[in-house]
Amino acid sequence: MNVLVLNCGSSSLKFAVIDPDTSVEHVSGIAQRLGSPEASLDVKRNGTKSTRPIPGALHDEALHGVVDALKELGLADGLLAVGHRVVHGGSKFAGSMAITPEVVAKMEECIPLGPLHNPPNLVGIRIAQSLFPDLLQVGVFDTAFHQTMPPVAYTYPVPFEWLEKHSVRRYGFHGTSHRFVAREALRLAGLPADDHAIVTAHLGNGCSAAAIRNGKSVDTTMGLTPLEGLMMGTRCGSIDPAIIGHVADATGKSAKEILDSLNKKSGLLGVSGLSNDMRTVEEAASNGNDRAKLALDIFCYVLAKTIAALVVPLGRLDALVFTGGIGENSTTVRAMTLGRLGFLGLALDEAANAKHGRAQHGRITTGTKPQALVVPTNEELMIAEDAAQIARGA
Ligand code: ADP
Repeated sequence: MNVLVLNCGSSSLKFAVIDPDTSVEHVSGIAQRLGSPEASLDVKRNGTKSTRPIPGALHDEALHGVVDALKELGLADGLLAVGHRVVHGGSKFAGSMAITPEVVAKMEECIPLGPLHNPPNLVGIRIAQSLFPDLLQVGVFDTAFHQTMPPVAYTYPVPFEWLEKHSVRRYGFHGTSHRFVAREALRLAGLPADDHAIVTAHLGNGCSAAAIRNGKSVDTTMGLTPLEGLMMGTRCGSIDPAIIGHVADATGKSAKEILDSLNKKSGLLGVSGLSNDMRTVEEAASNGNDRAKLALDIFCYVLAKTIAALVVPLGRLDALVFTGGIGENSTTVRAMTLGRLGFLGLALDEAANAKHGRAQHGRITTGTKPQALVVPTNEELMIAEDAAQIARGA
């Protein structure tokens, strides 16, 4: 039986129909630019993509369009459950949950922590409940996997009442991806389930790394929000917070405007001045563009430094995993990062590094301990598996 996986963003809706038992994805797609005259619905099946315009459509109409497409493909009937990606579960969710009115109420309480992401996630849940009233809906949270972090890893050294009164602590994100690739890495590297130490690096438009000990996240780089940690496409990652006050004084801008620049105009885009897209930055760097070279250098330097820091909570390193659009595809980023981590015993296998990518997973280092691996992520499959497990146990 198949699971419908939904990921509702502010102006987009991603979907997939997946058989969690065989890992087969029957169809996937995205409705984007919702609310604009250019809104469209892409449906991908067997390697071919069809696009239909849905001008002015909002999430409701887009999801009706998805259901129509599923009906045409004979995939709308016999679904086992609907799995929803939910970005911020705060401290309220340590695992995936069947969605009940109480769970929705708790998700609503998490809106102040994820003001941009949680409201559209909830919109998707409400529409799916009305379209599939007989199906179990399951929430899968980006933050849940990191709820195993100990207080020493999640507590910020700020006034303690900020934690007690305003829930200011590190939560971490990309949990579904870190969980999936760590599981795959165990299998690929032949590591025991009850004794392993892995660092996973999810490098997409957003980037985060996690330290995973025996299947549990013990530390991660993103914090209260996805702005902390590694350098990203448009986000700065960790910086001196006093920069905000300094730039506010110097420019007259508000903290909100400056935070907007730290989220949308920093990272690869900010330093290179060219693009948030790693392919563009790498190409410009290889053509001699100094700022693109600097952006690429900082990206790999911060990543390597952070990976080394994450070995502290682990006490040792068995495997380092690269995933996400950059982690899976950029031989350059992997080579430059590993080039700084030789002291951990990681030695790049250039031929393997050139070979591995989105289509092929595996080891890219020469030794066996520790090893670095490329593992393509599949958050949708993980959501489908969680939803199926809960539906079958329910
Ligand atoms: P998202 O986080 O939105 O899911 P992805 O995981 O697809 O995004 O990652 C997008 C990033 O992957 C972009 O920076 C893009 O440039 C990068 N990327 C994709 N293919 C390559 C490649 N061949 N070489 C370098 N970077 C790549």
